[in-house]
Amino acid sequence: MATKRVFDYIVLGGGSGGMGSARRAASYGAKVAVIEADRLGGTCVIRGCVPKKVTFNLAHTFDVLRSDAKRYGIHAARLPESTEGPDFSYARFKEMRDAYVTRLNGIYHRNLDRENITFIAGHARFKQPVDESDEEGLAVEILDAQGDVTEEIVGAKVLVATGGHPVVPTDEETKGAAAHGITSDGFFELNYVPKRIVVVGTGYIGIELAGVLSALGSDVHVISRHDTVLRTFDPDMQSFLLESMKKQGITVHHYTHVDSVDGEPIDADRAFKEGRNLAVTLRDVRDGATNVLDDVDEVLFAVGRAPNSTQLQLPEQVELGRKNYIKVDAFQATAHPRIFALGDVCGIAELTPVAIAAGRRLSDRLFGGAQFSTSKLDYTNIPTVVFSHPPIGTVGLTEPQARKEYGDENVKVYKSKFINMYYSMMGVDNDMTDKPFTLYKLVCAGPEEKVVGIHIVGLGSDEVLQGFAVAVKMGATKADFDNTVAIHPTAAEELVTLR
Ligand code: FAD
Ligand code: NDP
Repeated sequence: MATKRVFDYIVLGGGSGGMGSARRAASYGAKVAVIEADRLGGTCVIRGCVPKKVTFNLAHTFDVLRSDAKRYGIHAARLPESTEGPDFSYARFKEMRDAYVTRLNGIYHRNLDRENITFIAGHARFKQPVDESDEEGLAVEILDAQGDVTEEIVGAKVLVATGGHPVVPTDEETKGAAAHGITSDGFFELNYVPKRIVVVGTGYIGIELAGVLSALGSDVHVISRHDTVLRTFDPDMQSFLLESMKKQGITVHHYTHVDSVDGEPIDADRAFKEGRNLAVTLRDVRDGATNVLDDVDEVLFAVGRAPNSTQLQLPEQVELGRKNYIKVDAFQATAHPRIFALGDVCGIAELTPVAIAAGRRLSDRLFGGAQFSTSKLDYTNIPTVVFSHPPIGTVGLTEPQARKEYGDENVKVYKSKFINMYYSMMGVDNDMTDKPFTLYKLVCAGPEEKVVGIHIVGLGSDEVLQGFAVAVKMGATKADFDNTVAIHPTAAEELVTLR
């Protein structure tokens, strides 16, 4: 066993939050170690935001080739005849995407080297029993892939930034879910585009991957246990997106539960392939009626995620809450004075920039000196985008939340539904069957009409929102929006000209 190394800060998990916090701590001269069980970068880089956005961009390119290019008179542009052939190979695209992610993993390693942060490969857990009398700090064990302890290190402060993992329904909930289904992790392993896929769940992941797959030519069936999708979003965004999904050709099965998935199990070597011929039994939860979807290539469960907290042998002072998320205060502190936690393992706003921002502010406070003694992340008005087709951007309160908080009489809503100029000259004004409108919505509260919520959906909404989120964060009013001169011709200008 290696000799015991002692650090100012041990970071468990080299994902978004862990890396953000470790690097900021090191910038103040702290002696930092990052322990990572997988590749550096975490969910976002390896099986989340990054490969998802790359695939979203591919889907967008398919949309352009399918219809937009022709409408601008580029008749040479055409869709590849298949997603595996001489014109285009999804398998090759996947290799390119994997190579990009590997490059990013390398950049993360070089960043750690450059900043003198010690990288330790392995699975981390707290040494039990905890020796609270050790003045140098808490002991953390590193385990290899076989589960053997290879090293014990000690940290004056320890950050838990171990993220989460996708959940799959139990066999009692959905027979055959684990044996036959995949999750978002499996989606990124697919080296082909399924001809028919069932996507269970209508949160961020279900919606994003359903949109991408449909644009790539899959026959997509989305399973919703309600009459809507993205249930926590503003109702106008929900209904707009539902309509867009139907126009795109996605079948949404409402009030539906997946009873069972039958067919061949996934090969042990994970050689995903077409023609698995899965049979998926759907049940209408209102009347119990069942029907079977045949010839399904993949069933993708996007029914939420759970924290990586239970394998860590956390000291007993560290409290776990709902679904085993780690409980922290506003300063990311657990009840153990040396242990902090942030990011997906805490389950609050599971977004990369949230984990990074929380990590940096924590290190500012722990290592940055007196001027940062109150540094913490403000979790209000966090902007977020769903990379749906078309994308949704949202910040602040939904209309129902604002009405509840301020009272109906104190809420004023401004909306505009329009055709983005990108589409309007395409001769589709009378035929909007394949191109969605854009919908912008401002939710204002109080006599001064403070903008308390912005909800936008339509081409480019993913890029439009960031700047407007600054305005909301600063407490802008409708008058401030009105006083801002529009940028023409853009879609974004509609947000400062709403009446
Ligand atoms: P992670 O990034 O998951 O990092 C945790 C790390 O800890 C992992 O590398 C893991 O291997 C490691 N680890 C776990 N246990 C141990 C252990 N015991 N010892 C050592 N290492 C350990 N967010 C956005 O903002 N925008 C998006 O577009 C977006 N798209 C997403 C798409 C998908 C499909 C998914 C699944 C997520 C997406 N997210 C997106 C969410 C985002 O990826 C997460 O919120 C973010 O990665 C959380 O960062 P984290 O540091 O908390 O955890
Ligand atoms: P979400 O919590 O967003 O959505 C889970 C979905 O699964 C909901 O629609 C939920 O339905 C449904 N569901 C839950 N249990 C079942 C069940 N047993 N049967 C059928 N449906 C079920 O989780 P995701 O996994 O989609 O995403 C996790 C988090 O990752 C997100 O919350 C987000 O923070 C982050 N993320 C961010 C992205 C971005 O920023 N663009 C992209 C992807 C992920 P119901 O509505 O009824 O609760």
